[in-house]
Amino acid sequence: MIDIFETVCYKTDEPLKKHTTMRVGGKAKYVFFPKNFDELKAVIDYCKDNNERYIVIGNGSNIIFTDAGYDGIVIKIYNLMSDISVEGDLLAAQAGSILSKLANVAKDNELTGMEFAAGIPGTLGGAVVMNAGAYGGEMKDIIEYVDILLKDGTIKRFSNNEMNFGYRKSIIDSDMIVLSAGIRLSKGVKSDIEARMFELKEKRTSKQPLDYPSSGSTFKRPEGHFAAKLIEDAGLKGYRVGGAMVSPKHSGFVINYDNATAEDVLKLIDDVRDTVNDKFGVLLEPEVKIIR
Ligand SMILES: Cc1cc2nc3c(=O)[nH]c(=O)nc-3n(C[C@H](O)[C@H](O)[C@H](O)COP(=O)(O)OP(=O)(O)OC[C@H]3O[C@@H](n4cnc5c(N)ncnc54)[C@H](O)[C@@H]3O)c2cc1C
Repeated sequence: MIDIFETVCYKTDEPLKKHTTMRVGGKAKYVFFPKNFDELKAVIDYCKDNNERYIVIGNGSNIIFTDAGYDGIVIKIYNLMSDISVEGDLLAAQAGSILSKLANVAKDNELTGMEFAAGIPGTLGGAVVMNAGAYGGEMKDIIEYVDILLKDGTIKRFSNNEMNFGYRKSIIDSDMIVLSAGIRLSKGVKSDIEARMFELKEKRTSKQPLDYPSSGSTFKRPEGHFAAKLIEDAGLKGYRVGGAMVSPKHSGFVINYDNATAEDVLKLIDDVRDTVNDKFGVLLEPEVKIIR
């Protein structure tokens, strides 16, 4: 049996702003960094045995913790659990693999289909949970299977169909942990793949406020509308609460402009939602996950 405090890397009283791309949030009692399945399982078993609340995160690029922090154990699956292998046109990877790395591996193996994901700053695990997508592609289009650790401790392979992918959602709930996934791509031409990745990168850099911390698009796309357009039309471009701001470059992004607290960001999100609802009768739903 693994003694997690002896074997697994962890930090105590760790500021969660270090582990989210919005760079806000209080502290967690512990953040664990398992480097393989056995360590991950041992941390989860510890949490269950000791009635500790826990959450698994990837790169924290779609999460906001409040200033109160997280009263439990944060398990970060990133980098240390990121093996990637390629067999024909199937890419098999562990949940902690960063999407840009996966897209580059695909490109180097002349496999097309992952170009859309190259600029999404998350892990494979987070992207599967969120059914992340961009520029006409989404994980749903390329995932063949997902290996998931279930609440009862068993591992089950889910097919694409069984994942119930929808717009920025999947079947995964807080009791299911993505361990790895298979991505089915198709044979392509390396220079074309490279050119497409470059084109999408240029689009991102020209349109998105990548020089400030953020969680990407703050709100989901409401049916029949674009969140950024509604926010801009409501006169909220550049609107500030404390250090948080609606990006003047892209109204769909809330940015941490100047040492924002989570409270600033959450108040800004509420204000935007209320103003847009009052003006246009459209209720914006956050895409970013707020952990309380
Ligand atoms: C600048 C910027 C641009 C972005 N652009 C896009 C975009 O174009 N398209 C898009 O879809 N998103 C975009 N995002 C949002 C974000 O990158 C994606 O949602 C990404 O898929 C989240 O991955 P992550 O590893 O950071 O997940 P996290 O933020 O760490 O977690 C997201 C959710 O998944 C859960 N989770 C994470 N890993 C696991 C796991 N292994 N098992 C079980 N649950 C897990 C977490 O508990 C949480 O509920 C952007 C974000 C930023 C900051």
